[in-house]
Amino acid sequence: MRRMSRTVCAVFAAALVMAVAVAPALAEPIIHDVRPGYGVTGIGWISDYHAPLRGSAVDTRVYYLDSKVEGPTTLVLGGTHSNEIAGIMAATLLVERAVVTTGRLIVVPYANASGASYADTYHPEIGYYSLTTESGVRVFRYGDRLTNPEHQGPDADKYIHYPSGQEFPGYEARNLDRAHPGKADGNLTQQLAYAYHQLLLEEKVDVAFDLHEAGPTSRLANMVVANPKNIDFAVMAIVDLEMQGIVMNVEHSSDTFHGLSHREWGDTTPAASYLIETPNPAQAPNAINPDVVNDKVNPLSRRTATHLATIDAVLNAHELLDGKRTRWVGLPSYEELVSDGLEEYLR
Ligand SMILES: [Zn+2]
Repeated sequence: MRRMSRTVCAVFAAALVMAVAVAPALAEPIIHDVRPGYGVTGIGWISDYHAPLRGSAVDTRVYYLDSKVEGPTTLVLGGTHSNEIAGIMAATLLVERAVVTTGRLIVVPYANASGASYADTYHPEIGYYSLTTESGVRVFRYGDRLTNPEHQGPDADKYIHYPSGQEFPGYEARNLDRAHPGKADGNLTQQLAYAYHQLLLEEKVDVAFDLHEAGPTSRLANMVVANPKNIDFAVMAIVDLEMQGIVMNVEHSSDTFHGLSHREWGDTTPAASYLIETPNPAQAPNAINPDVVNDKVNPLSRRTATHLATIDAVLNAHELLDGKRTRWVGLPSYEELVSDGLEEYLR
């Protein structure tokens, strides 16, 4: 009797420790409008790679597109920052339209689901954006850059990156792109980063892309940031893109700035790691009534097309130098997506 109650106690204590580890994340993940097409061969959760995240607000769907033909595995993350929607749309198009013919593609359209649970702090008036497809009006969240404070709890004065020890302002504790390679028993955002690190290792990812946006006048707009070990592929890719009339710049990860996907994934896993940035009108300083879909200079269709063309160009560089790439069919060309619009290709 006594022994049994002790066992019960131990189980209860273990459950409590797990709950505390992700507390106060009581909210469940929000399911976003992503409509898997014929190419999707499996759907999982990021918590499959780190069980304590199961049922938490950062749990998010992971889509697998497996050709069953031998070849490399490519990972694409949209929505690390939930207001950087061209990356979310590029990932969504891959899930909805791509049919992989060589190797395997793993796609996460809403990489930080907690960030996509609330409106952007700088432009809360946007809230949502909509696109009218053949199926009708589809509504998508214009979320925030950071994990929802209601899910992670209040920020400390300082955030110390693990394992580098680099110091950041406290709010950066909720930035997924300052949390890599993550910490299994860290805060909610660090645990999410840890889950992606586990995914990269367990799925033996060869090439990884993290899709972002930046203000149109930012140095980062139209940029490929590559881990130094795979910078050559990025340089080849931007030459290829320039011949297609798409102007992108390239730089390598900073040696002294930690927590970013391209830096930490490339350093701590075998994956070649890239981050792509397109210009988002709402991220301009002091933007007034920005139109995140139909901006005259930087429409969402073109920003999305730029992400997809850049991914393709980088993978072409891998094929040239490594002799292999993940390959798929079913997506519009850059020109088709720019001229016909996203609405034509989303389901
Ligand atoms: Zn970003």
